[in-house]
Amino acid sequence: MSTKYDVAILGGGVAGQTLALLLARDRLRVALVTRPQPPADPAGVAPDIRAYALNAASRQLLQSLRVWPDGPAVSPPAVTPVSHMWVADGSEASVRFDAQSSGAEALSWIVDVPALEQTLAQAVQFQPGIDIVHERPAAALTVICEGKRSSTRDAMGFEFDTRPYTQTAVAARLRCERQHGGVARQWFINGDILALLPLEGAQGNAVALVWSVPHERAAQLLALDSTALADAVAQACDHALGHMELLGQPAGWPLELSRARHWVRPGVALVSDAAHAMHPLAGQGLNVGLGDVAELARVLHEREYWRELGDLKLLRRYERARQADFGAMAWATDNLFGLFGHQDGRIQALRRWGMRGFDQFSPLKTWAARRAMGRITA
Ligand SMILES: Cc1cc2nc3c(=O)[nH]c(=O)nc-3n(C[C@H](O)[C@H](O)[C@H](O)COP(=O)(O)OP(=O)(O)OC[C@H]3O[C@@H](n4cnc5c(N)ncnc54)[C@H](O)[C@@H]3O)c2cc1C
Repeated sequence: MSTKYDVAILGGGVAGQTLALLLARDRLRVALVTRPQPPADPAGVAPDIRAYALNAASRQLLQSLRVWPDGPAVSPPAVTPVSHMWVADGSEASVRFDAQSSGAEALSWIVDVPALEQTLAQAVQFQPGIDIVHERPAAALTVICEGKRSSTRDAMGFEFDTRPYTQTAVAARLRCERQHGGVARQWFINGDILALLPLEGAQGNAVALVWSVPHERAAQLLALDSTALADAVAQACDHALGHMELLGQPAGWPLELSRARHWVRPGVALVSDAAHAMHPLAGQGLNVGLGDVAELARVLHEREYWRELGDLKLLRRYERARQADFGAMAWATDNLFGLFGHQDGRIQALRRWGMRGFDQFSPLKTWAARRAMGRITA
């Protein structure tokens, strides 16, 4: 059967748009299926308040597509390199990473989400070979990139195992009295996890907050007025960056560890959050999702000339490679969550001892930093 499209990509998030660009540049005919824009809301839809920590592999992929949002005209800068990272557990124990001793330009890059989505949307609009449609067309291969609540995945009967965490991530942006100095800071305090990610360039004084707390506490934080929420953050991080002011509208994200049992079937593949989701404490969800995108594009590009795009054997190559990578990252993230959430004094003492040892043992630190940067074999 001849169809108009080689590939139908469902979902126009970062993963879906990046895959559409990669495949169209490989001369495949792509339909990107997005939701119709809702009628104009007089109150306006609040932009995504988050910023993503993206690793070197994600940056390289987006740069190769010319959608890395760091153009000179962008002011304030939408990309901030992380030169140092500091992780503490509420005691005197802490671990520091720095890009220089890991032999890297930066540990990661903090990227403004609306700027990235806008850059991608423009590139998709001007890329020959991509049609933006609102109904799913027939295609040799359908790729589901609808995020973790994907209705098409569920309607197709893919089994999706979900283990909710007891936490909601409160995301917000704050302007601080002091500059962040390119440092990403993270505190693990009695099970809560508070991260301040540097924004607006190396000299900036704005940060993106991701504060993972029990659901009830998250609801209380989100009900605070802007001054009270900014004060609560400043207090929780012991005024590390001085006085803080809230920018924009905070939002809450209930957290879960989830994974589809199978990521492919004949003619269909699940990609990124539609296949898996993890706790954001290590800032790896989209990095793993973009790893899926790159691998699927590679597998399709390198297929034997006689294989169809929807061939199950072909798609299984993608599934095998990516399930292993997701499994390793989800295992590490889930164990970190368990380790830092423990209230048992003996475990806490062991953890402090481990953190001090880890901080002083540079080969292990360098390996961990490189792993998180997406430089798996380096
Ligand atoms: C608080 C928080 C902080 C995070 N921080 C980081 C970080 O620092 N680094 C990192 O790597 N990851 C991070 N993540 C994870 C990251 O947000 C996700 O991994 C990423 O958004 C997944 O992208 P996606 O395109 O797969 O899915 P989504 O971003 O969920 O996009 C899915 C798209 O599909 C569309 N869609 C859904 N259903 C349909 C349908 N039926 N038809 C058409 N379209 C549909 C949606 O409208 C949306 O546009 C964080 C997550 C949270 C919650």
